[in-house]
Parts: sequence; C-alpha cells; structure tokens
Amino acid sequence: MDPPPPFEKDLYHEHPAVAALGEREVRDWRHQHRVRVTGGPRGRRADPAPARTFLEAAFPECVTEVLENSGFAAPTPIQSQAWPLALSGLDVIGLANTGSGKTLGFVLPAVVHIVAQPHLRPGDGPIALLLAPTRELAVQIKEQCDAFGSCAAVKNTAVYGGVPKGPQERDLRHGVEIVIATPGRLQDFMDGGATNLRRTTYLVLDEADRMLDLGFEPQLRAIVERARADRQTLMWSATWPREVERLARAFLREPVTVQVNDAARLRVADTVEQRFEAVHPSEKHARFLQLVRGGGGGGGLLRAGEKAIVFCETKRGCDALVRALKGAAVGAEAIHGDKSQQERDWVLGQFRAGALPVMVATDVAGRGLDVKDVTAVVNYDAPSCAEDYVHRVGRAGRAGASGVAVTLLVPADAPVARELAAMLQKSRAGVPTALQQVAG
Ligand code: AMP
Repeated sequence: MDPPPPFEKDLYHEHPAVAALGEREVRDWRHQHRVRVTGGPRGRRADPAPARTFLEAAFPECVTEVLENSGFAAPTPIQSQAWPLALSGLDVIGLANTGSGKTLGFVLPAVVHIVAQPHLRPGDGPIALLLAPTRELAVQIKEQCDAFGSCAAVKNTAVYGGVPKGPQERDLRHGVEIVIATPGRLQDFMDGGATNLRRTTYLVLDEADRMLDLGFEPQLRAIVERARADRQTLMWSATWPREVERLARAFLREPVTVQVNDAARLRVADTVEQRFEAVHPSEKHARFLQLVRGGGGGGGLLRAGEKAIVFCETKRGCDALVRALKGAAVGAEAIHGDKSQQERDWVLGQFRAGALPVMVATDVAGRGLDVKDVTAVVNYDAPSCAEDYVHRVGRAGRAGASGVAVTLLVPADAPVARELAAMLQKSRAGVPTALQQVAG
C-alpha cells in the first residue's frame, strides 16, 4: 500500500493583536482566567498567546460570522487558549469540564483542519474523528458540528450504540469529513468495513476519563492503533488520574497541556457512590470502626476480598487508626511520610496483592497511588479542599468497577462541606442531606 500522503496541520495565522501581546500581558491574562499552559514539543514555541476575541482567533470568515451571530459574547478561557494551540497542529491535552466551552475548542479547529485537506474520495473515511463516551455527548458534539461546519460544507455524522446501524452505516459509506462516535459502535463499523481511518489526521478523545470509567480502553486502543501515526491528537478530560495520563502517553506526541482551574472542572466518576455522614467528634471513632467492620445494624463496607483506603489528616492519626483496626481484627497498615520507602513499598505490595484489606494514608502518600480494585474510600478526616476530595475518591471505582466513598463530617468541616456541596450541585449526583447540613 502507498504511504499515506503528507498533510497540512500547522494552520494558525496569529492575529496581529495577539502577536503584539507581551509576555507579561499573556501571563496576566492566564492568571486572571486561571489558565495554565505546560509542556509541548522541545525546540518549538508551544505556548501561543490567547485569542481574547472571536476575531483574534483568526478563523475563516464564515466561521467567525457564525460565532458572532451565535449570541456568545467572547471565547471562553479554554477556547481562547486551546484554539491557537490546536490550529498550530500541536497535540493538546485539555483539562476542562462540560460547560467550559471545550466542544467548540476542538470542533472549530477541526473545521479549519478539514478545509485545508484535499477533498474526500470514494472509500475515504473521516478526516476528523471525535470519540465520546456516550450517545448524549456524541449528539451534543454533532449539534455544534452542524452549526459550525455547514458554512464550510463540512459534513458530519454521529455513530453510537442503541439504535439501528443502517442509517449510520449509509452515512459512513457515503463519506463524511467528521465522524463523532462512541468507541464500541465505531469499532463494529470499522471491523465491518463501513469506514476506515486512512484519512484521519485529526483525532479527538472527549471526556477520556469517562471513557475509561466506562471500560472503553480496549476499543480505544484498537481504534487509535489504526489511525496514522502522524495525526494530530487532542485529548480532553475533566480529571487527571493515572489511567488517563497513561493513555495520553500512548496516544499523544509531546502534547501541550492546557488547564482551566475552576471548581467546575472537578468531577467524581459516576461509578463512585458518594456518601456523607454528619457525626459528633466524640462519636467519629466508633462510627468509623462500625463502618469498616460492620455491626450496629449495618454490614461492613468491605466484603471478603475487597479493599478500602482510609484517609486521615495526620501521620499520628494514621497510626492510631491502624492500631484500632487491628484491635478490631481488620488487617490494616499505614503509609505516610514518616515511613521509609521500604516500609511503604511493602505495605503497598501487600495491599495490591489483596493480603491487606485496609490501607490508611495521608493525602500526600495517597496521591497518585495506582491500585486496582479499591472498592471503598473512607474519609475519616475530611479533605481540606474539593481538589483533594476528588483525588481521594478517584481511588475507588476505577476502570468501570463500582465503588463507594464515605466521608465523615464534623461541624469544623463546614468550609470544605460548602465547597463539596457547590461541586455536587453542578453534577447530576445532587447534594446529600448530611453534606448540606454540615455546610450550613
Ligand atoms: P461545552 O463545555 O462544550 O459542553 O459547552 C457548554 C455550552 O456552552 C454549550 O451549550 C455551548 O453552546 C456554550 N458555549 C460554547 N462556547 C461559548 C462561548 N464562547 N460563550 C458562551 N457560551 C458558549
């Protein structure tokens, strides 16, 4: 087979007003909008200044026109920063949540990318492939592709499970520049020869963390393996657990990371059930033991073979909990900053192997731990902020398994309870009564 033809991906024409921005102004803008830009290819300028207006983004005229008629006042922070990066042909990791405007962040550069490529020929698959975890999200992305692609005669179709294949297959075979797809259904179509990725030079993984939560990793790997190696890849995620990082390393080349640091970005996987209990400080210890061990009218959090991580604020507190658990015949050890590396490795090894059902940890020791099949996270001490909460709770319910997170709250936890309530308010989970009660 002929090698794939070369293609154009650096399509950015920096607007004079953007080019004129000094380093200081760029830094101030990023600080004000809580945007961080890191990484990128060595030996190449990879942190273009933000486009603060639609005009400054320097899109083709028809796209700018649709934007200006959309009723939106200005680009969102993630758009301002992601557009110049994506239009420059760079691989991008975007850490942003639904509601940040991330969809247009990757859809508009896709349109520009497509317009710069030769037309599709019979038998060609899409030029841009946008992968999404769910049918709902695929449909939302399609709506934005419809709104912003039609002026440039860029066609799209969305393929997802749960509906008949016929019409989707007809669109694919007919040829469309953009395919929006959930991984399983796309893989079926690729296996059946309805489409291929020979022309795909712009690949997006949207909500990568959710795709992993839903167990799509094998399909993602099988799909991406069949795309050309010199493609441009953009990966979006609301959270940044180890699994997502691993996927980014496998799929992206020298990516630039752009992150909007707002609380709305924080999200706990749907696979984790979040429980809160308001307790009096003097009852906390007894309630904790009851939770882990069972009794007092409730089954324990752990069934045989299951594992829990318990978070505790201080090193001394960790050791005290370990003693109490052992006293209650629950196998437990702690990892924290006072333990030697050797001790920590031993504890982790035992915990990973399933020989130790409970591991007690401080935030610092617990961050980034890659342990599979943790079914429960117990916040004996509440975390100090929502960010830490998301990191802790993200230890459970990984890779599609379900998990539970229990947080014990005392009246002094009111500030973080308010932060957590605000975070949950924005999610589908809603705000549990105990959390509301402590938040006041
Ligand atoms: P998303 O984060 O991509 O799911 O977008 C959330 C919502 O914001 C969608 O309904 C978009 O139509 C809308 N949106 C996208 N860009 C902007 C913008 N620049 N200004 C205001 N709203 C926007």
